[in-house]
Amino acid sequence: MNILVINAGSSSLKYQLLNPETQEVLAKGLCERIGIDGKFTYKPTGKQAVKEADVAMPTHNEAIQAVLNALVDPANGVIGSMAEIDAVGHRVVHGGEKFARSVRITDEVMAAIEECNPLAPLHNPANIIGIKACQSLMPGTPMAAVFDTAFHQTMPPVAYTYALPYEYYETDKVRRYGFHGTSHKYVTQRAAVMLGKPLEELKLISCHLGNGSSITAVDGGKSVDTSMGFTPLAGLPMGTRTGDIDAGILEYLMGKYDMDIKTMLNVMNKKSGVQGISGVSSDFRDLEQAASEGNQRAALALEVFGYSVRKLIGSYAAAMGGVDAIIFTAGVGENDGATRAAAVKGLEFMGVCIDPEKNKLRGDEIDISAENAAVRTLVIPTNEELMIAMDTAAIVNG
Ligand code: ADP
Repeated sequence: MNILVINAGSSSLKYQLLNPETQEVLAKGLCERIGIDGKFTYKPTGKQAVKEADVAMPTHNEAIQAVLNALVDPANGVIGSMAEIDAVGHRVVHGGEKFARSVRITDEVMAAIEECNPLAPLHNPANIIGIKACQSLMPGTPMAAVFDTAFHQTMPPVAYTYALPYEYYETDKVRRYGFHGTSHKYVTQRAAVMLGKPLEELKLISCHLGNGSSITAVDGGKSVDTSMGFTPLAGLPMGTRTGDIDAGILEYLMGKYDMDIKTMLNVMNKKSGVQGISGVSSDFRDLEQAASEGNQRAALALEVFGYSVRKLIGSYAAAMGGVDAIIFTAGVGENDGATRAAAVKGLEFMGVCIDPEKNKLRGDEIDISAENAAVRTLVIPTNEELMIAMDTAAIVNG
């Protein structure tokens, strides 16, 4: 079964054609600068990659048409015809309270996704444009929507309720939603396989540390708390995002520098996080380099990040009344041993202890815990496309 996974942004579109049963990726790539000049990248597995600048892509329709043309191309294609695409899985950022799982896309589902647009005004409209483009080019092919928020819909009210007047929840749906759900779901499933125990019996803390970062407490396979909130600005400090800060700072800085809320939020989304603290970079490789050369602010940014991860691990262990394993995933979590070590430093009291040699290993799924550690520490590469394809296949197969 071949599933085309589509992750549509406002001016870009990532795609992957894969078989969820064999986990084989047939081809993947990226359409960029949609509506501008159009750049197309296509990488068929085992064949030469194709990179084309200036492919006319005035809309997402032309972008998806370019993807389909490449997939069936006689020379570089990976399938004989479009009939070999059994279903399309679409990443959708926000499913609000309406979607607690992935769903088959129908007219009613499209209307419900559109109703979630105000909750993710930058992302959901672009996801919808991607779905509509696929529907017009591939009528008759079943499609599924896989939401970043759905996995977190199992959170109890105690975890998702903000201490605002309750009407803002009832009327305006202001609550914690959480994001990166597809990634947290995938790595916690893999952790259960690695630990050789049913997911239902495990208390896991999943640390998705990338450019955007979030941590989720997963008890018995269900998300019970997560660090991102109403928006992905909450929780940990990130590459360029503040994470949680005192809301009173907004009034203080906006008044002092005569900033409107748009300007303030731009600072909080694009100029803060480890980039803001260090003034060097949002990339952890650059920060480690700068810190090793004596840059104090780069060192401080790394310390603040590691400390923030550690505090959340502690609070989620408290929230669940224990933890069996801590998972590190995404760009930083998978690759950055120094940050992993900082994140679990001093947690020996609760049974967390990593082996410094194993922590240097790279590559696949690895258990980096010290021999005698009561709590396992795992590095698990995330695979959101595979998770989307698996969910889509499950829906299509009923
Ligand atoms: P996104 O949230 O955009 O999907 P990723 O999960 O791909 O991000 O993570 C990207 C980040 O991973 C980079 O900004 C960089 O800081 C970090 N990263 C990637 N490789 C390494 C590495 N070898 N060492 C440290 N950090 C790394």
